[in-house]
Amino acid sequence: MLDTLWGAGHGGYLVGGGVRDALLGMPVSDWDIATDARPERILRVFPGSSYQNRFGTVLARGLEITTFRRDHRYADHRRPDTVTFSQDIFEDLARRDLTINAIAWGRRGPEAGSRLVDPADGQGDLQARLVRAVGDPVRRFDEDALRLLRAVRIAAKLDFAIEPMTHAAMVAHAADIEWVSEERIGSEVRRMLAAPGPSRAIRFMADTGILATTLPELQALPEATLARSLETLDLAAETHPAQEHLVLAALLGELGPETARSVLLRLRVGGRDADAVALLVAAAPEPYLSTWADADVRRYMGRVPAELLPELLELRFVRAAAAAPAHPDAPAREAGLAERVERQQAAASPLTLGALAVDGRDLRETLGVPEGPVIGAILERLLADVIEEPSLNTRMTLLTRASLILDELMQRGRSATGPARPPIR
Ligand code: ATP
Ligand code: MG
Repeated sequence: MLDTLWGAGHGGYLVGGGVRDALLGMPVSDWDIATDARPERILRVFPGSSYQNRFGTVLARGLEITTFRRDHRYADHRRPDTVTFSQDIFEDLARRDLTINAIAWGRRGPEAGSRLVDPADGQGDLQARLVRAVGDPVRRFDEDALRLLRAVRIAAKLDFAIEPMTHAAMVAHAADIEWVSEERIGSEVRRMLAAPGPSRAIRFMADTGILATTLPELQALPEATLARSLETLDLAAETHPAQEHLVLAALLGELGPETARSVLLRLRVGGRDADAVALLVAAAPEPYLSTWADADVRRYMGRVPAELLPELLELRFVRAAAAAPAHPDAPAREAGLAERVERQQAAASPLTLGALAVDGRDLRETLGVPEGPVIGAILERLLADVIEEPSLNTRMTLLTRASLILDELMQRGRSATGPARPPIR
């Protein structure tokens, strides 16, 4: 890639997070490339490449190539209204957000040797494990409020501290987050939660005042409750890093299902995922007692769809592990529940309407039950019976019971609409 740019007479550098992570000895997921070649020129140097955005970033062979630029005029505390291309790598590095993101490796042209270009001493900050804004921090956060979230995310992911002046500027500009779209906030927060040590990100946001604007519901929790949520969050992230449902449910568990769901929709988590997390949040706190009958275990299993059950058990386990210092027997108790659930699964115990030996059509055609809510009510009653006693789940038994339930419902319906009582004097 760089060879091609150099060979075409251009300067070309690796920049940004890739250089940062490589210098830290961490795996690099994506490289960004910066060059003095103009976008039209990049398109010609790399046949088959295409524009990635309206700022002239080109996507070539899976990598993003951006022409050196100067940003200016940030009217809305977000993206610049105009960019000016530049011939100078130093100008390009000066507009970047953090010193550790403003290190370039490459060469000025075909004849020059490759070297690190690091005008803001990003390497010094990598050594000191510090996140520091490039240039005047107050101005940099004022220009672009998204940098607040980027600074938090990168400090948390690397387990770096935030340099004091940078931290003070973040505090001063925390309210500017309102200029960042909910989509961007959502994607940054979700990236924070997918990175190592997600509780650090929430703590940085709380310390700087950013949490009050992004996740006020968490900000409002009493400290002890927040601390418990964050412990659960880290445990979930550590043991099940790829399970976003679990991580979100761990973080938002103390808010209750309704609030958790509205937070997730605001963070632009899809509706189905938000529903799944809300179900987990609703079901996880129910205490399990070893005195539960098998029917209680089955009723509990029915609280979430079968595909969510493993995550529900994992969430319970993580919550129990977080509570273990105060309740040392909690994890063992959860293991006991998991074992009993497994036994029910092995027995293929019916837990949902779909597993019943009859369906709505049977009730209509065999018993002549009229279309309408009565059908659903009867099926629910049958399911409750079958969960209590799985051996009832045969067609004959259920049809018999259904006709009894139907009689009972009709009777009740009649008395409800029966002759009006005489008015009380
Ligand atoms: P990662 O990819 O690990 O999340 P990154 O630092 O590579 O982190 P990118 O979004 O890929 O993040 O951005 C690449 C580089 O572009 C950054 O390292 C930084 O130099 C610069 N950059 C990105 N967003 C901004 C911004 N809002 N303000 C200033 N510079 C930015
Ligand atoms: Mg990157």
